[in-house]
Amino acid sequence: MTRYAELAAEYGTPLYVYDLDRVAEARRALFAALPESFELYYAMKANPHPEVAAVLREDPDRACRAEISSTGELAAALAAGFPAGDCLYTGPGKTAAELDAAIGAGVRTFSVESPGDLRHIGAAARRHGAVADCLLRINSVSASASTSIRMTGAPSQFGIDRETLDELLPELLRVPGTRIAGAHFFPLSNAKDEASLLAEFEHTLAVAAELRDTLGLPVRLLDIGGGFAMPYGVPGERPRYDKLRSGLEAALDARFPDWREGTPRFACESGRYLVGGCGELLCGVVNVKESRGRGFAILDGGINVFGGMAGLGRLLPVAVRPSGAEASRRATLAGPLCTPGDFLGREVEVPPLAEGDVVAVPNAGAYGVTASLLMFLGRPAATEVVVRGGEVVSVSRIEHRRNFDVPRAGAHR
Ligand SMILES: *Cc1c(COP(=O)(O)O)cnc(C)c1O
Repeated sequence: MTRYAELAAEYGTPLYVYDLDRVAEARRALFAALPESFELYYAMKANPHPEVAAVLREDPDRACRAEISSTGELAAALAAGFPAGDCLYTGPGKTAAELDAAIGAGVRTFSVESPGDLRHIGAAARRHGAVADCLLRINSVSASASTSIRMTGAPSQFGIDRETLDELLPELLRVPGTRIAGAHFFPLSNAKDEASLLAEFEHTLAVAAELRDTLGLPVRLLDIGGGFAMPYGVPGERPRYDKLRSGLEAALDARFPDWREGTPRFACESGRYLVGGCGELLCGVVNVKESRGRGFAILDGGINVFGGMAGLGRLLPVAVRPSGAEASRRATLAGPLCTPGDFLGREVEVPPLAEGDVVAVPNAGAYGVTASLLMFLGRPAATEVVVRGGEVVSVSRIEHRRNFDVPRAGAHR
């Protein structure tokens, strides 16, 4: 039995296994791919497990900061040991209650998605006698790279349209309780290759320099976003970005000649690149059946434990191990839920499967548990095992319970 099969036998399936050594490797690789002084925000939404997240800040010289977007992610970041003062709070719908919680906990840096969002941040900061450092998230007019998920250049709930800033900026600079500290860009996720990633960053740096030069946008911190790629639920390696650092340095020399002295500060963001490769999802085969000439394997976990966003039209091309066996065949991997949408893979290449076998979905460390339909059909969440140096560090599971003691809205103030 392999080590992971032993863990599946010991703790049951569905089971996530996260290897912290792989998180540390990814963190080192990404810092090495960026210019020396760059900061890196870890997007907690990729995997907020406190031990996984803690590895991203354990090296004091190259520690990630946390990018958070809810009260739950704030709690997860604090539980993982990220100082609140280093967190970046993002998202288009920050409520008064969550802004109060964040500022009360010591968060001082916010990405601003609209003029209304900026006013809400300012009002919350003033309730706490604080001033919030705000990065204007920019929705650029155009963008360059090709990607699987694009979030800029079109009408969007994210960011402030570049072409409206000439008129808006003077009033944005005067919102009480706030100080405009720079800009935030996040135009793409999962870039297709290194060249398109670099092209997008070059474009972003050009737009930021233009905002500084033509509009006088204050720029103390520039978060130029991410797009660092990682296979999701399929075999494959974390990409190498060997040319990114020198390419970025050249672009910085051209647009921000003082960057080597630390002015302004620069940051990138990543979720999937940092943690995607640390995790594997193990599911047990509950049943095998044939239907009209097609093979089905029914697993004990489906979109309730992985790839719940499949229901949003993003069907995953999941592959499983062990594969490549001589007798491999095609089968559909269905989950246990009573919905025709519960598949981990349709007609995928699998070895002959039998009841009691365990299939492994690789590269499932990012957007696993938290991007799944946890409540649908009421099954328990997957168990999450953390290993380091081959040893089990912890075993846990997210539990839901209904609380009948809900305070009235507004009672938080
Ligand atoms: C989701 C998100 C990320 C992380 O994206 P990955 O593709 O996982 O790297 C980073 N920044 C922001 C603002 C996000 O919303």
